[in-house]
Amino acid sequence: MLSGQMPILILKEGTQREQGKNAQKSNIEAAKAIADAIRTTLGPKGMDKMLVDSIGDIVISNDGATILKEMDVDHPTAKMIVEVAKAQDVSVGDGTTSAVVLAGEFLKQAESLLEQGVHSTVITNGYRLAMNEVKKYLDELAIKADDEKSLIRVAETSLSGKNAGFSNSILSELVVKAVNLVAEERNGKISVDSSNIKVDKKNGGSVNDTQLINGLVIDKERVHPKMPNVVNNAKIALVDSALEIKKTEIEAKVQITDPSKIHEFLDQESDTFKKMVEKVKKSKANVLMSQKGIDDLAQHYLAKEGIYAVRRVKKSDMEKLAKATGATIVTNLDDLNEKSLGKAEKVEEKKIGDDRMTFVTGCANPKAVSILIRGATEHVVSEIERSLNDAIRVVSITKEDAKVLPGGGAIEAELASRIRGFANKVGGREQLAIEAFARALEVIPRTLAENAGMDPINTLIQLKAEHEKGNRNFGIDVEGNKISDSIKRGVFDPLKVKKHAFEGALEVATMILRIDDVIASKKSGGGESPGGGMPGGMGGMGGMGGMPPY
Ligand code: ADP
Ligand code: MG
Repeated sequence: MLSGQMPILILKEGTQREQGKNAQKSNIEAAKAIADAIRTTLGPKGMDKMLVDSIGDIVISNDGATILKEMDVDHPTAKMIVEVAKAQDVSVGDGTTSAVVLAGEFLKQAESLLEQGVHSTVITNGYRLAMNEVKKYLDELAIKADDEKSLIRVAETSLSGKNAGFSNSILSELVVKAVNLVAEERNGKISVDSSNIKVDKKNGGSVNDTQLINGLVIDKERVHPKMPNVVNNAKIALVDSALEIKKTEIEAKVQITDPSKIHEFLDQESDTFKKMVEKVKKSKANVLMSQKGIDDLAQHYLAKEGIYAVRRVKKSDMEKLAKATGATIVTNLDDLNEKSLGKAEKVEEKKIGDDRMTFVTGCANPKAVSILIRGATEHVVSEIERSLNDAIRVVSITKEDAKVLPGGGAIEAELASRIRGFANKVGGREQLAIEAFARALEVIPRTLAENAGMDPINTLIQLKAEHEKGNRNFGIDVEGNKISDSIKRGVFDPLKVKKHAFEGALEVATMILRIDDVIASKKSGGGESPGGGMPGGMGGMGGMGGMPPY
């Protein structure tokens, strides 16, 4: 009926657009490219990536989320994959590389089905059915882990995935100790607020000098050498205004005609500071932490009163100090009183490397703890910081949930074997998709083997054989270059981390598979695109309205 008519154009001429198979194909390629870029970092034998920005600053990391955050990713589908890593990092803190590698593999397996003429709806349906089974199996296969030793294993597994260069056992113990200190029991349920654990770093020294502090560490020294360097029974005033006289914006000229007036003028200034310090003293504070500056004269008077003072404390540290010591941050010194002060058993200045830092220990809130990371260089301490933050999250989750799975690709191999059995029962076209799902899961043990320099194909065949025999915990032993029981070797991943990674990977893969049209759109956020609202606007402006997707 429409034949002979002009085609109706709904898009501006020249708009970038890709449809159907082409759109699907290029989306899958982009996702696979991202997954391929980070798969070499998976596992304890994974390599690191060095990311260099346009001004030459570098980040060296083995952490999927960090690498993807630093990478300058432009492709829209690739960005969706990066989002999965971010979401995984935010919600559970670990398993980011696994999630991305798995998402890439779900798509790769789907691609070959698409080439065989299986429709994407059939694939996503099959994948969804398989995922429902996976969730059931995961609960069945999970192992109880609530003792200290298991928690240390969980920390070790998380840390060993990051960097082979530092001593995991010391750090693992510190992480577990810290988590145990902040864990609380509420209505018979354990909950851990891992934000109570503050991670600080100071380069210099060795990783083995990394320490756990029962309190907070502030990277500031006392402002005056005459101040005490230890204060016991500390009563801490937190002030977020300056102990300085405001400098006028316009240069003020003070005309002093009589020499005796100079003294008067200086006395006035000194008086102001004396009064400020008076107010601090009156509140009975023996420690003062200011978010802003403290004038030299004020420092002098504070020292005279035996008050330990630090200045220019970071806002985030001020907030942590308030929470830990029970202090209220005041802006006006007049508001200082005994009630607004925080309490700690000890405030002490300690020399760490070449710097002096303030240790606030025995805080009113015993849940405030810190880990102070030491290591040879800035890059080392930064990578340890990222790894420790992940390990803290993972151990906290395990402390709450007490459920772990065998690591080293064991769980993925077991799931793959079970899912194959399930596929046979389902039959039909979906069976192909469910089998593809099983193959995709095997990317984890395969990559772990590959990164450890093992033969990935032979290893996977052996691994499958063990799982067929019922050795459900067999995984890749990257140290021994063989396969063995991951639980016996103490390689545990938390159930929640794995579950989240599987779900996140599947979600993004499904989302990408359902796209059959990619159209350059108007830029969002900035209101109407230029020309869009103009009467008879020039179509030629189209290209500027939105970034073309490729
Ligand atoms: P992710 O970002 O996914 O956590 P990692 O690089 O940390 O990536 O690697 C995690 C994988 O490495 C998990 O499958 C975990 O079970 C495995 N793994 C960690 N330690 C070992 C080990 N000692 N032996 C074998 N596999 C390990
Ligand atoms: Mg990890």
